[in-house]
Amino acid sequence: MPRVIHHRPDPALEGRDAARAPDGAVLDARGRPLRDLRISVTDRCNFRCTYCMPRELFGADHVFLPHEALLTFEEITRVARIALANGVRKIRLTGGEPLLRKQIEILIGMLAALRTPDGQPPDLTLTTNGTLLARKARALADAGLSRVTVSLDALDDALFERMSDSRVPVATILEGIEAAAAAGLAPVKVNMVVRRGMNDGQILPMARRFRGSGHTLRFIEYMDVGNTNGWRMDEVVTGAEIVRMISAEFPLQPLQAGYRGEVAARWAYADGAGEIGLITSVSQPFCGDCTRLRLSPEGRLFTCLFAEQGHDLRALLRAGADDAALARRLAGIWQTRDDRYSERRGEAHRDHKIEMSYIGG
Ligand code: SAM
Ligand code: SF4
Ligand code: SF4
Repeated sequence: MPRVIHHRPDPALEGRDAARAPDGAVLDARGRPLRDLRISVTDRCNFRCTYCMPRELFGADHVFLPHEALLTFEEITRVARIALANGVRKIRLTGGEPLLRKQIEILIGMLAALRTPDGQPPDLTLTTNGTLLARKARALADAGLSRVTVSLDALDDALFERMSDSRVPVATILEGIEAAAAAGLAPVKVNMVVRRGMNDGQILPMARRFRGSGHTLRFIEYMDVGNTNGWRMDEVVTGAEIVRMISAEFPLQPLQAGYRGEVAARWAYADGAGEIGLITSVSQPFCGDCTRLRLSPEGRLFTCLFAEQGHDLRALLRAGADDAALARRLAGIWQTRDDRYSERRGEAHRDHKIEMSYIGG
């Protein structure tokens, strides 16, 4: 469990003099605006992906957060409202498995009703393992969700079962993806984490399966998040390798980034069968454009996926702090942010990184 910084009055963290972009977005110490809020709504999951929640460490005796420790929907919505006032434009719900959080559609409705200072609704998305999506897609869309990202690491059932350490067939996830698209949560992004020697043989089958489908397949370089997956550099299949492999069968052309902070490098199939994305956090880090703030299930703010420390907001929320105090705290945390772990990977060893299943990627 990461260490927590409890709130104590510290003028440097109060954000009163935070530098801001012209639209009011607070800037961090490297001039990066706050734009994205990733909210982890639970630390529980019905999968035990070997690279995320290995069963040896997340077994039957693992103690998850008790319900009362989790931020309530009202508390989450309040933090999100303040984050929108300070620059956030995109909100992503994640976990653990976010669809395990009871009545998540109520939270989605509350977040969808929020507005940016210029009156726009937030771009509201969710990352899921897809097991419950066929059942829930319609309710999520009706509640105001904009799109979904579904994680799927293999099409081969035996391999998928091994990687997710579950008995769920691939067909269940594919049904979830189709249900999401049918409900209007499109285009659906399909995220595949590639691990050499494990599922790199699925890169081409996945490309064949999803080209022309209307869904966007994105390949994610296997990262050294957390402390439990025994990550090794030689298990990373780089984005460049993946592009070479797919291009040999289906020629690809690079596309321009859609906006600052877009983490996926986009490539289009030359024959017009759609596009793929590559998230090259290891081989080509994008810290310089990282505009993401992460909120943990029990209300800690993390300014980097590889952070060792979170900033506790829940104590402030539950002590009756007013919006102005919360806004100062949030802006102050962002203002002092100097993280760029992926750019310095190898230079600095970290022993107590947060787990992916806790903060949600
Ligand atoms: N349970 C949901 C899911 O799997 O989509 C949401 C949370 S999960 C932690 C978010 C994403 O992180 C998934 O796409 C997962 O594959 C990815 N992920 C987890 N561990 C990873 C690692 N070590 N390297 C790269 N991606 C990872
Ligand atoms: Fe669960 Fe997602 Fe982690 Fe897999 S990657 S164990 S589905 S939280
Ligand atoms: Fe952002 Fe940290 Fe990842 Fe760099 S390492 S892109 S700062 S989350």
